[in-house]
This record gives sequence, structure tokens and C-alpha cells, in this order.
Amino acid sequence: MLIPPKTIVIGFGLVLFGVLEYLMPFFEPSRKPLRNLSLNFGLGLFNAIVISSTILLLLNAGWEIRSAHPEWIGLGALPEPIALITSFLLLDLYLYLWHRAMHRWGWGIHRLHHTDRHLNLSTAYRFNPIEVLLSQLLRVMLIALFGITPIQLLIYESCFSLSLIFHHSNWSLPQRLDRLLSSLIITPNLHRLHHSQSTDAHPCNFSSLLTLWDFLGHTHHYPRYPKSLRSGTRS
Ligand SMILES: [Zn+2]
Ligand SMILES: [Zn+2]
Repeated sequence: MLIPPKTIVIGFGLVLFGVLEYLMPFFEPSRKPLRNLSLNFGLGLFNAIVISSTILLLLNAGWEIRSAHPEWIGLGALPEPIALITSFLLLDLYLYLWHRAMHRWGWGIHRLHHTDRHLNLSTAYRFNPIEVLLSQLLRVMLIALFGITPIQLLIYESCFSLSLIFHHSNWSLPQRLDRLLSSLIITPNLHRLHHSQSTDAHPCNFSSLLTLWDFLGHTHHYPRYPKSLRSGTRS
């Protein structure tokens, strides 16, 4: 049986960052690792199998309809490298806007992701299925509207999946390297601040991959004392 490329990327990310956070943890690991891990990975499996498979059927239908209408304008009108970069930016901007919208209007369903008091790579999968369903349904429309192709989606999703595991990991990345990377991508310290109880009222660092959107939206903040941050929620 052929293993889908995205599954290989996710497996690689889990092993790599799993080993790194085990060998070099930033915070003391949770005292109830099994309970936490089973809830997070259980949600991840449910979302991947039930929600994402359903969305894939919709995506396939959308791609078939689009291929039957080559006259519809989309990214296909651009040179291939430009279309690839544009699709990448569009998909990443969409997630930034979605995440901001969740904090403003959808806290009731996004809150579950923030209730984890011990961030580690399993937190990357702790999402309410309703949030995953709604965000992916809206994204199907974006993909259909701009004519984003399966390969463009696969490239973005592979990078996003690695980023998601990386910035949730409890890996003690050297702070200078974390800070350097934070000008380009979301790093563990940036995301620790996003999950911090201290930023409950004024959340920041909403990007999922490129920090460009946080810079443009004036929501980029690097924590002064990352070790003092406490994850979880007060509301
Ligand atoms: Zn959030
Ligand atoms: Zn998170």
C-alpha cells in the first residue's frame, strides 16, 4: 500500500521533534502524559480520519468541476512558480485570519486547543472537530475560487504540518536561534506566548507558519521571558 506523502512528512516531524523534546525539554514534562497524549492524539486521529476524509471528497469534487471548466480564471493563468508561491501565501494568510476570527468570535470552540497546560507536540492535534470542520469547509471554497491545485495544496500542507509540530513542541531550541527564526516562521517561543495565560486578554502570534502576517497585522510579539510563561486558559 502506498503511504500518502503528507503522512510521511507528519511521521518524520513527530519522530524528529518527539526525540528533540524528549532529550532537550523546555519545561518539565506533564505528570499525566498518557491522559494528555491520548486526548490530543485521539482528537487528531478523529479529525484526520473523519473530518479530513470528508473534506477530501468535497475537494475532489471541486477539482473535477474546475477541470471541466478551463475557462474559469484562477492561479492557473500565472506562471507555475508564481502560482505556487501565491497559493502558499493565500493558504497561510487564510489560516492567520481564521485563527484571529476564532479568538474574536469562536473562542467557545477554539478554547479547547488552549486548555492544554503542558504544550508538547501532541498539542498540535488538540482541536475541536467543529473548528476543523468549519475551517476546512471555508478553505474548500478558497481553493475552488482560486483554482489551487492538489500539488500546490500538498506542498503547503506538508510545510504547515511540520510547522505545527515544530512550534508546539516542548523542545528547548537555543533562544538565539528561536529568535532568529521568529522573523520568518512561528517558533516554539512565539507560540508559547500565544498559549500563555498572561495574553488571554490580548492574544498575539496568530500565524501558523510565516510570521509575515503577524508583522503586517501588528500582532507579532516575542516573549521577553519565555521560561516564565504558563500555558492554559483562565476564561
Ligand atoms: Zn489560538
Ligand atoms: Zn497552539
